[in-house]
Amino acid sequence: MSKGGWSCPKYIDNRCTILKKECDPGDKGCVLYGKALFSNEESPSNEAFEKRMERKMREMLRDKNAK
Ligand code: SF4
Repeated sequence: MSKGGWSCPKYIDNRCTILKKECDPGDKGCVLYGKALFSNEESPSNEAFEKRMERKMREMLRDKNAK
């Protein structure tokens, strides 16, 4: 994946060197999995991203209440 200002270091010749298949940003195993929301609602990254954000929010609230 090489669009905008970011180029994935695992992207070579339209293939992912981690997943050993065509680059599919947000797929399980991708460096972006759970770290970004994708406009494609079917992206497995989206659910993982939302769970990650919920977990971070709980941690922030717990830390804030502990002070
Ligand atoms: S699938 Fe993800 S990790 Fe693999 S090349 Fe594409 S953007 Fe990079």
